[in-house]
Order: sequence, then structure tokens, then C-alpha cells
Amino acid sequence: MIVHNLGYPRIGVGRELKKACEDYFRCASDQTTLIQTGKGLRSNAWQLQKAIGLDLIPSNDFSFYDQVLDVSVMVGAIPQRYASLQAQQTPMDLYFTMARGIQHGGLDITAMEMTKWFDTNYHYIVPEFTPNQSFALCSQKPVDEFLEAKALGILTKPVLISPVSYLLLGKGKGDRADMLNRLLPVYLEVLKKLAQEGATWIQMDEPFLCTDMDETVKPLMEQTYTLIRNTCPTLEIMVATYFEGLRENVAFATRLPVHALHIDLVRAPEQLTGVLAAYPTDKSLSLGVVDGRNIWKNDYEASLRLVQQAVGALGSERVMIAPSCSLLHVPCDLDVESKMSPEIKRWLAFAKQKVVEVVTLKHLAGGDKVADSFRLKREENRADVEDRKHSPLIHNPRVKERVDTLHQLNAQRQSPFSVRRVLQQKALGLPSFPTTTIGSFPQTSEVRSWRAKLKSGEWSQAQYDEHVADEIKRAIQRQEALGIDVLVHGEFERNDMVEYFGEQLSGYVFSQNGWVQSYGSRCVKPPIIYGDIARVAPMTVKWSVYAQSLTTRPVKGMLTGPITMLQWSFVRNDQPRATTALQLALAIRDEVSDLEAAGIRIIQIDEPALREGLPLREADRPAYLEWAVQSFRVSSSSVRDETQIHTHMCYCEFNDIIKQIAELDADVISIETSRSQMELLDAFTAFQYPNDIGPGVYDIHSPRVPSQTEMTALLNKAAALIPAAQLWVNPDCGLKTRGWAETEPALSAMVAAAAGLRK
Ligand code: GLN
Ligand code: ZN
Repeated sequence: MIVHNLGYPRIGVGRELKKACEDYFRCASDQTTLIQTGKGLRSNAWQLQKAIGLDLIPSNDFSFYDQVLDVSVMVGAIPQRYASLQAQQTPMDLYFTMARGIQHGGLDITAMEMTKWFDTNYHYIVPEFTPNQSFALCSQKPVDEFLEAKALGILTKPVLISPVSYLLLGKGKGDRADMLNRLLPVYLEVLKKLAQEGATWIQMDEPFLCTDMDETVKPLMEQTYTLIRNTCPTLEIMVATYFEGLRENVAFATRLPVHALHIDLVRAPEQLTGVLAAYPTDKSLSLGVVDGRNIWKNDYEASLRLVQQAVGALGSERVMIAPSCSLLHVPCDLDVESKMSPEIKRWLAFAKQKVVEVVTLKHLAGGDKVADSFRLKREENRADVEDRKHSPLIHNPRVKERVDTLHQLNAQRQSPFSVRRVLQQKALGLPSFPTTTIGSFPQTSEVRSWRAKLKSGEWSQAQYDEHVADEIKRAIQRQEALGIDVLVHGEFERNDMVEYFGEQLSGYVFSQNGWVQSYGSRCVKPPIIYGDIARVAPMTVKWSVYAQSLTTRPVKGMLTGPITMLQWSFVRNDQPRATTALQLALAIRDEVSDLEAAGIRIIQIDEPALREGLPLREADRPAYLEWAVQSFRVSSSSVRDETQIHTHMCYCEFNDIIKQIAELDADVISIETSRSQMELLDAFTAFQYPNDIGPGVYDIHSPRVPSQTEMTALLNKAAALIPAAQLWVNPDCGLKTRGWAETEPALSAMVAAAAGLRK
């Protein structure tokens, strides 16, 4: 039985890759240093996996920025706007320019687009194709890294995104079949070189096999693998699928002319039976039984049942064991977590521990030849799994009961929007085109240094609170001076919009080093939801009430919504996501009620992650949207008609979810529209969206200060699409990444633009 891995985290336990890249970007180090860091990280990952006992260790899973961009560079799909740079920049600098854009030395070239990798929080660089896109071998990265590992005595399994999946990831209107005909020779060149250098197994990632794939794609995949088999007969190709089940593509996928298929049995354990029934006799099957997307310890008994089922059908020589997908999506090493409660730590596994699990499963699947040391591991695992199931840390009967009786709660506002609107207008007395912001104000290095002082113990809580209070006071004064209608306190006390709430809720635990790559050198440290979620005490009331005490204008209370809390955390795998979302929703509902009782008249519940939670398969989307909408309504519906509920969503495509956005029934929604020149409003217009909307008029992702004229033009555009009475005036998103120097003039121009419209 072969055990293998689909990919190892590349950032390093101490985020070495992030630091090395950012030093290089700041010109604080040279290219040689960066290259050496990369080499060190690859070597560490290979040696570690070898020492643990994997049979097949992946290579080419490393990247300085992104694995899709690596392919674009390998096949020479370099967009025209970078062509002139090829003579002036080193290949590495050109690579980073494509990823990040360039704006210095008289150059001003935009970056390539970035988007989420399937349903993960990892972002890849979208390939850009022209209709007659040509391809040529421009980098030998997979071969170089294979040779690098070989020099260390490790014969790796190079990982490549398949040519078909690569084309499907890109944008541009060429004919796919033609493009594939031009792309395949380049891939074949790479594969032939790998074969010459002694590679045996190649992993071809084909994630589209788990999506609603259109029929025209199948012949392209068939053509690809037939050609590879005929051209490189010594290579053994493994087609890797993940993030979903194969469903209607089972028959097709199992028949591909390759040597092995990898399936995700964490997301879709039920697919094993169908796959085995269709499985040909000449192929190996790789079972993804260790969760590559979440941080829970594997349940060996459950995994072994799947392994045994496959062994029974295929024989042990044809069964392989692996994580469900690349371990890119989990943190590196649990061993370095020294501060985590040992009771919870025993339930977890990060990347390194997951590789150990895969190897252990192989030994345990060996039947009666199992060594004592492994039997002991099995017992330990069983105890940990049982402990987690029954731990009082996880289970809170009161929370469960509240969720169970939720159906009795009418998660609806008391009156329809048309009635609420009149009452709110009377209560708030806002002008037409009311102005507001999305919540956060600049998190200056000073503000961040206060938190560091509090954490290190240099400051007492009282000292810290005093500084936060002063900053809130200044923010209120600034907003009053600017003439903004609905104020915010500025979110200075928050490190992160999820972490801030998670830290105050029971059921959440935090790692110190659990970093996961989000894009390029950016990493996130998702908190872990391990137990029933309960609010211990009010979380935001103190600062909101303080801010409101400083002004007669309404100050918005600011909360993060249940779906965003869920989506940006590692979540429980022992109950449906919907249940966890409802628990979060109840905690937020209590906070909403407390804010209202404390005199806060407007409450914003941010849901920037609502769209990204959409399942990969169309068929699963209605169910998700139903509980997502329900969760938002549970969190927002306790208030009186006079209390105004806002929500906020960042840049996203609204067309296919506009009906559900309307069902959220927020009184006001703010969205990001300035870059798209209000194009994103089309969905709201076509749907005749009934409630109020604040389309962003200020692009907060750029330090540029937009002029009043620009914003007036955007507002006029919006007013042509949406009835003026429904329009609010606000920036695209929060201002935490901006400085006051840009923020004040931009908001001043925004207020002036709104005043102009009123006239
Ligand atoms: N209220 C949050 C802020 O202003 C919203 C952030 C977001 O949408 N990602 O920072
Ligand atoms: Zn936003």
C-alpha cells in the first residue's frame, strides 16, 4: 500500500516565506537570499515527509507566490502588458510584477487578477488568455525542483495542474480545444524531461472533475491523458480530484487512461461505493481520508473502514492512502503550539501531524502484522476521538436547546420594510442620500502598538482602554467636523473582525502560529470553533455606548455576521455547518438586543463572506443559501421596527444571489461598487431590490483620494439605476488599511458630493 501526500504547506512553520518575500519586495534583501530561503523550505518539507515515512513525497508544490501563476510562467502565458518588461526585469521580478503590479520608475502596470481557489480561502492568480494564445516552455520549475530533491536522495512525485484544469481556471475567449492543442506540446516537453530524469509518478490535479463540468470538457481530458500515455509510457499518472465528490463524473473519471485516481473521502465519503463499483482492474485508487481542509485529528476507525472497503474490492497493492487534498490549507505544525489548552490540543492535527496519520493508517491497515507501537497509537487515537465526542468543553445543553427550539422563533422583523422605513425616518431624521462609513477607521501603527503593550503586560487594561477611548473621541469629532450623518466608533479595539468576537465567545480557541497562506505573502490565522458557541457577556456594548454618548448623531453598532464568523474560522466537523451558524447567530442576536437596549439606534451586521460560502455544486446551493439567510435573520430580527439594521458585503457577484440578499431584509446594505463603476448595481436594478442601498463611491483599496466630481459622477450613475430615495452614500469598505491623511479629504469630498446631490 503506497502512502503519499498531495502538497505540503510552503510558508514554513515561522512564516519564513512571507518574511523572505516581503524583505525582498521592500528591497531589504537580494534575490539570492530569497532563492536560498525557498530552497531551505523545500528541503525541510521533503526531509520531514521522508522521515515520517511517506512513500511518495510531492514536489513542485512549492511556490514563491502561487502555483497557478507558476504554470502561466512555465507555459509562457504572459499577458501583453508585461512584454516590455521581459528585457529589463529578471524572470523572478517579472513573476512578482505579474502577481503584484508595478508602480515606480515611470512604470504603472496593473497586476493580474486574483480569485478564490474553488471554495477555499486561498487566492490564485487568474491566467489571462488572448483568443489566439500561444504557449512555449519558459520555465522548467517542475524539473528543477525534481532534480533538487533527487540531489537530496528523494525521488519525488511532481505535482502539476492538469492542462485542462489550467485552461478552465483562466479567462479570455479562445476556443478551448484549439488552446489545448497548443498547450499540450509544452506540457509534454516538461513530462518528457521529468521521465528522462527518472520521475515515475506524476500527480495531475484535476479539480474540475468535482464540479458541474460541461460535457465538452470530457473529450479534452481524454485527449490529454491518452496523449501523455502514448508519449511518456514510463510515467505513472495520478489524477487528483478534491473538494467534492465525483458524482455524475464517476464513470468518466474512473475510465481515464491513467494509472491512479485520487478521491476526496472527507468531503464525500459516500462516493467510495460508487467509485469501487465502477473501478477498472488495472488502476490504483488513492483514498483521501485525512482532512486537508480542517484541523481535526483523524478518526482512525472511520478511515480504516473506508480503507478496508477499498482493499476488499481492489486488493491492498492497488490502494493508496493520502490526505484529502493538498495540506496547503492547514497550518504547518501543532507541536509549536505551546499555549493551547492540552485538552483541546489532543483533538487537533496540523500538516505535519496529518502526514503522520497517513503513514500510521498504512501500518494499521496491515491486518494482523501490526506492530505493537502502532496498536498503541490506535488505542490513543480512539481515546482522543471518544474524549472529543463526550467532552463537557464542547457540549453546552442550553445552547443546543436554543438551537433545537429555533423553529418556534419567527426570525422576521415585526413589520415589512415599507412600514419600518417610515418609523426609522421619523426616529432618525436623516437627510436624503445619508452619508456613513463601513465601520473601521485607520488602524495606525500607534493603535496597533497599544494592543501589543496590553498583550505584553506593559500596559494595564485601564491604560489601554483610556487610549482606545481617546481615539474613539477623536474619530467622533472628526466625523462630526466632516458632516457625516451616521457615525461609527472606528473599531480601534479590534485586531480582526472575526478574532475580536471569537475571543469573547465560548467554543472558540486560538492558535499562536496556525498560519495558512491566503495569497502571495499574505497569511491568515483562522480561529478554531471546537464547541457550542455561547456569548458569555456583551461584546461591543461598552464602546458603542461610549461613542454614542459623545454625539447626538446616531452611531452604528458594528457586528460580524454569523456566516462570516463561520466562513473565516476552522469549524467543527462533528455537526453540520448550519448548526454552528445558528449558534453563532444566536450569540449575535443577543448582542443586537443588548445594543438596542443600550440606546443604539442603528446596528450593522457585516457579512462579507456570505457569497464565498456558496457550495461548488449548483445542486447544493439552495440548501446553503437557506440556512445562511436564516442565520442572518436570526441574528438581526429581534429589534423594534425603529431600529435600523445595516449589512455590508465586499466585492462580489450579486446576480445569482440577489433574491437571497433581499431575503436578508436588512434595512440598508452597503456594497463595493466603485471599481466596477456601479456595474454591480445592475443586479439590484433588475431585481427591483426594495430596501436601501449604499453603493461604494470611494475605492478604499487604493491610497488615491477620489475627487468630489468623480464621486458625484458615480452617484449620478447609481441614481439612474436605483430610486434616489433608496440611496446611501458611503465608501466601498472599512478604512482600517488607510491613513488619516487620505481618509479625511476623501470623506470630505464624499460628504460634499452627497450635499450636491441633495440640492
Ligand atoms: N466593518 C468592517 C470594517 O469596516 C467590514 C470589513 C469587511 O467588509 N471586510 O472594517
Ligand atoms: Zn467590505
